[in-house]
Amino acid sequence: MSTAAIVPSGRHTPVLKRLDAVLRPLTVFAMDLHRHPEPSGAEARTAARLAEALAAEGYAVTRGVGGHGVVGVLTHGDGPRVYLRAELDALPVRERTGLPYAADGPYMHACGHDLHVAALLGAATLLARARPHWHGTVVVLGQPAEETLTGARAMLEDGLYARFGRPDAVLAQHTAPLLGGMVAHGYGPPVLAGSVQLDVTLHGRGGHAGAAHLSVDPVLAAAAAVLRLHGVVPRESAPADPVTVTVGRIDAGTHSGVVPDTARLGLTVRALSQASLDRAVAAVERVVRAESAASGCPREPEITVVSRSPLTVADPEVTALTREAHREALGAERVVPWGPSMATEDFGLYGDAGREIHGCAGIPLGYWMVGVVGPRQWAAADGSGAAERLAALPPNHSPEFAPHLPIALPSATTALTTAALTLLNRPSGSPRAQPRR
Ligand SMILES: [Zn+2]
Ligand SMILES: [Zn+2]
Repeated sequence: MSTAAIVPSGRHTPVLKRLDAVLRPLTVFAMDLHRHPEPSGAEARTAARLAEALAAEGYAVTRGVGGHGVVGVLTHGDGPRVYLRAELDALPVRERTGLPYAADGPYMHACGHDLHVAALLGAATLLARARPHWHGTVVVLGQPAEETLTGARAMLEDGLYARFGRPDAVLAQHTAPLLGGMVAHGYGPPVLAGSVQLDVTLHGRGGHAGAAHLSVDPVLAAAAAVLRLHGVVPRESAPADPVTVTVGRIDAGTHSGVVPDTARLGLTVRALSQASLDRAVAAVERVVRAESAASGCPREPEITVVSRSPLTVADPEVTALTREAHREALGAERVVPWGPSMATEDFGLYGDAGREIHGCAGIPLGYWMVGVVGPRQWAAADGSGAAERLAALPPNHSPEFAPHLPIALPSATTALTTAALTLLNRPSGSPRAQPRR
């Protein structure tokens, strides 16, 4: 893999030549967002910064779409309508990157959404300044509340497509612990998993630790359920059909001498097909109810769905077009395949998975991963197998996740800009047109 500087080439060079001139203010913008992270649903400052910057480039900006959502629209003649989306929110993680622009507080851009927004602004700026090179409409989305998997739904329920037009394609990218400068495309749907997050309450009957036989112990029922739930994947899902079941939270009781009344579990189920996801969720419910009954719990357990995210399925034709644009602009050696990941997103709702919300069928999505690991950090993690390297690099959501801006920002901006140009330059109203060769 190459760590040499990226020299843009190919048909989009006239637009990409303008990147040098905007890279410095864009880097300052990215650092400012990083220093001021805001949690899901409270992205007021981030939204304002993006809105101001888009307005300065001539975009018609609407704020407050589905919460703190920002929509910027720029039209240049007739042509396709292409949406570009980035997330505004940060996570409740206390930063330990040691970066000079690190956040100082309880929140952190530990998922790289600051870089996504900066690259979105970069692409929006290049497109605005190079209008002769495309026709159509660019719709820029700053989406709130991705980490809670609620923001895409909120923007769509606020009439996103009715107000700003039906998209011919919606594009997004996400940071990943790949070498900076690389982009990775899925080679078949899906790119990311679908998920269901569940809350479980087991009802026992509290009592005295010394006379536990007179109580019904929900701690024992919860412990038995946790162990049994870990059989769902190896014993009910085929080895080639990826499913994960994780109990991430368990809480019960207030005192070691007291048998409590209830015990609670928080868990997440993920899968790479809707059928497997539904099957695993049904298995989880069956196990929880059976363990509750086996313990003699006096009441049925409560099982609540806290959130759902759809599979992220990239359209094969959009993927082929964007991959080709990335190979041209970044060099073929920087474009690699991406095996589907068990990470999850609410981006799928902009396509068919959200049809019940927005009422549009067949909107193609484009989605790829962008590498953010600096060359030095990459070299330090090198010399071992791929799995060892991955374990040595801080992943997304880690307090040490630190995208290498000097490489990752220009490459992410280039990836989004060239993907947008490729789709804008397709004939209008023919989202299924053949890729240009
Ligand atoms: Zn995240
Ligand atoms: Zn993310």
